[in-house]
Amino acid sequence: MDLRKVSDTPNDSADDVVSQFTGKVAHRIYWGAVLVTLPLTIIQALEGKWLMLAWLCAFLCYTSITALRVKRLSKRRGRHIIFITLLCAAVMYSTLVNGIHGLLWAYPVMASIAFLLSWRLAIVVAVTFVILLTSVSLYTIEPDVAWRSLVSLLVLMILTLTLVRLLTRMQRHFTELAVTDTLTGVYNRKQLQTDIEQLVALKARHGRAISAALCDIDYFKDVNDKYGHFDGDRLLIQAAQLIKSNFRASDKVFRVGGEEFVILMPDTSLEGATQAAEKLRENFAKTDFELKQDPVNMTISIGVSELGKDENWLDWLERADKLLYHAKDMGRNQVRNTVQEIA
Ligand code: GH3
Ligand code: MG
Ligand code: MG
Repeated sequence: MDLRKVSDTPNDSADDVVSQFTGKVAHRIYWGAVLVTLPLTIIQALEGKWLMLAWLCAFLCYTSITALRVKRLSKRRGRHIIFITLLCAAVMYSTLVNGIHGLLWAYPVMASIAFLLSWRLAIVVAVTFVILLTSVSLYTIEPDVAWRSLVSLLVLMILTLTLVRLLTRMQRHFTELAVTDTLTGVYNRKQLQTDIEQLVALKARHGRAISAALCDIDYFKDVNDKYGHFDGDRLLIQAAQLIKSNFRASDKVFRVGGEEFVILMPDTSLEGATQAAEKLRENFAKTDFELKQDPVNMTISIGVSELGKDENWLDWLERADKLLYHAKDMGRNQVRNTVQEIA
């Protein structure tokens, strides 16, 4: 395996890309709110509405300081709840004081609720906002106009929440596509680096054992030559499924080359990883892989290594790579690990 190719890939996961995007949009909503509020603040000052002026000044300070401090505002941990609560309170107060002119601001606020808060929190906040606003509007606006405005606000709420929900699902789908190997359905090389970096950080923090196995199907070129490339692909799909089913759900399988796979095993010592690799080697050799013609038998060679304390992940995988080639040199269909290598 060419390990340099792994380290050269940018280490942003697809999830990171999506959260960076939504974070940037959230950042712009904050600045947008500042721009809209600024002239309103001046108007309140000119009209001598001191309570509203004080509130708007507080809102301006909070929003601009938050937007200045953080370039990307993630949705995590209900970060925007203060911002949204301030906006909702302003709309309700403005509806109380200015009637329908205040209620008009409920529409952009509703869109911000749907975009800035997580799905469940957004539903709770949006419904509470509509209920409270209904009470205020019926008190200050003609009932006929108030009901119509609130029903249209309700429609906007359903539309925006549904749209954001669909967008989130679509993002998740694209995220999965970006990290999946299109032929075999296991993770691809790009995801390997993201996961390795997370595991290495976990090891540094908690000192937990982490192992990796590098597998390469033996004489696969001959298989391709004998059955053709398309049947070779079918065999690769079955091989990937067999490898996946051999390991725990917490272990992750990556296709890193034509017929080469990496398995990352968190919370697994070298001994445990070697046992798992040995089980895979045995199952692999025993399996009748299915093609239209005859069943096909193949073998696999595996190098196993455990991440050392303060070890660089590139060195860790390089050790597994060397052990894999050692297994090939020793005649293939074998598992090699660090201990055997040193001994
Ligand atoms: P060794 O035991 O030394 O690993 O021998 P090998 O023939 O498996 O090794 P080598 O790396 O020389 O060849 C790998 C072959 O895998 C080359 C190519 O024919 C095949 N291969 C690579 N990618 C794909 C793929 O996506 N589909 C198919 N069908 N074959 C592939
Ligand atoms: Mg190979
Ligand atoms: Mg091979």
